[in-house]
Amino acid sequence: MRDVLIVGAGPVGATLSLALADADLDVVALDARAAGAAAGGDRSLALSHGSRLVFERLGVWGAVAAAPGAVTPIQAVDVSQFGGFGRVRLEAAEHDLPALGYIVGYRALQAALDAELARRGAGLRYDCAATRIAATPAYVTIEARQGREPIELSARLAALADGGGELLPEGARRHHDYGQVAVIGKLGLRAPHRGVAFERFTPEGPIALLPEGDRYGLVWTTTPERAEALLAWPATEFLAALDERIGASAVRDAIPGGFAGIAERRSFPLRLEYATRIVRDRCVLLGNAAQALHPIAGQGLNLGLRDAYELAQELLDTPRDTIGSRDALAAYTRRRQVDRLSGIAFTHGLLGLFGNALPIVSWPRGLALTMLDCLPALKRTFTRAMLFGTRTLVS
Ligand SMILES: Cc1cc2nc3c(=O)[nH]c(=O)nc-3n(C[C@H](O)[C@H](O)[C@H](O)COP(=O)(O)OP(=O)(O)OC[C@H]3O[C@@H](n4cnc5c(N)ncnc54)[C@H](O)[C@@H]3O)c2cc1C
Repeated sequence: MRDVLIVGAGPVGATLSLALADADLDVVALDARAAGAAAGGDRSLALSHGSRLVFERLGVWGAVAAAPGAVTPIQAVDVSQFGGFGRVRLEAAEHDLPALGYIVGYRALQAALDAELARRGAGLRYDCAATRIAATPAYVTIEARQGREPIELSARLAALADGGGELLPEGARRHHDYGQVAVIGKLGLRAPHRGVAFERFTPEGPIALLPEGDRYGLVWTTTPERAEALLAWPATEFLAALDERIGASAVRDAIPGGFAGIAERRSFPLRLEYATRIVRDRCVLLGNAAQALHPIAGQGLNLGLRDAYELAQELLDTPRDTIGSRDALAAYTRRRQVDRLSGIAFTHGLLGLFGNALPIVSWPRGLALTMLDCLPALKRTFTRAMLFGTRTLVS
């Protein structure tokens, strides 16, 4: 019997696999995707400084950052609202950091992690889709399809990092639909950017502009009806609508020549999904399988990477024959509780304050932004939460 089966080697499952690669444990990861492929389309991911530290500890940051243009440092984040006062600017230099965070393409990140897993000889089966999970008090069995061949694997613990918790029973995850859609794409520039990311709150939802290579990654949160129009419009009309939302904001100064074009437009619905329990018999959930958050605060992937790192630390501290036991799983739940729940609550609360069209909240919103900018201690606390995770708010 193996020690750990990792279902899903996306960014989170692959990170767990890397964190266990040098341990004296029998670990195998399965992924439904083909070798060299990445699940879903490409997307701009925001990695916090804390996630960089996780990758550095695992000795993989060099590989992630080495691919030309794969990682773009964020020197500052500028937060403002459309049609209201208040603005806050968070600067890396204020915190003596090389960058507040990094924008990395999903494919580039996945390719770097896959290459590192191969280099370290970690067990990873591609084209292997798990179809069923069954647990006894002593072990867990995963049924899967390796290509077309049905296979069965058993282990002391299954770590589910499949992004959707698809093997869980009905009702194991809660859903909250925000009634919003994210339109994403890549914005061409007329002049080089200065590494500033923007979050602009509008009545339909936040717009994020993320410096990525020599372009800006766009995440435009809006209603499903408007998203349909934004996807269908010609580029000139799309850019004019974006320009109108940006208004006379700091974006204009930071992107002097404006946007030259929009490419790779697509959309996806925005929901909060979270598992009611992150552990079950002989099974633990992590990454998006445990919680899929709205991208407003860029917390989702970073929280998932901390899930992976902390689970690995817990496993490395656990005697082999107690891996997956009730006590070991309870210890992991305690370890992740505060970070996880505060990450979900922070993102959901931010949406209550900022993802709202009511004019009545425009004033408190402006006040919150102004207070953040004027009160150094509050700003430091907020920035630390963005950099290292929201558990810093309660520790
Ligand atoms: C459409 C979309 C757009 C997003 N855009 C952004 C964004 O703009 N910015 C941002 O910061 N975050 C974004 N996110 C969130 C971000 O992508 C996630 O936080 C991150 O991908 C979570 O990583 P993960 O490894 O937990 O899951 P995933 O990235 O979903 O990886 C899951 C892995 O499991 C594998 N898998 C699935 N089912 C099985 C199975 N049955 N058996 C074996 N393997 C399986 C898949 O092939 C995949 O490799 C987006 C998410 C989605 C879905």
